[in-house]
Amino acid sequence: MVVFTRAVRHLLPCLLMDYLWTPWRYAYVSTAEKTTGCVFCDAVNAGDDRRVLIVHRGQHCFIILNMFPYTPGHVMIVPYAHLDELRKLPPDAAQEMMELSQRMESILRELYRPDGINLGMNIGKAAGAGIAGHIHMHVLPRWVADANFVSVVCETRILPEALEQTWKRMTAALGR
Ligand SMILES: [Zn+2]
Repeated sequence: MVVFTRAVRHLLPCLLMDYLWTPWRYAYVSTAEKTTGCVFCDAVNAGDDRRVLIVHRGQHCFIILNMFPYTPGHVMIVPYAHLDELRKLPPDAAQEMMELSQRMESILRELYRPDGINLGMNIGKAAGAGIAGHIHMHVLPRWVADANFVSVVCETRILPEALEQTWKRMTAALGR
């Protein structure tokens, strides 16, 4: 019984991570008619950062809001290069990705006052990547009592902030 409980405890975060990022996949399956097949490449080339929710363009990477945020302020840091593995990312792009991660940590702390921050990548479908062909770093604020387990399990999302509002706050903070 003890072993079973431990196994469940170890398994649960993995299951959550899988559920966590899959809404991306579902959302874009239905809106991908006129695309190249990669939502990140399409977003960069759309020519309308506000509509596609890009909040920052760096030299090698850009930052985009997650259209189905796990928590308010959930962003992804994405290299312009369409690469499916982190090890393929050139050093200067990898460095900028980490610099932007640090910057987003500061901005999320300032704007959302979270208790903690999740930062991570799912590389490959087996790891839970919704967009497996184009690597991206998730950065999202967390609170001790946030209700995401319930929201994910029930497929009902509580969004205290509209994406439009998040976009405005984030672009303003990143533009400073
Ligand atoms: Zn791509």
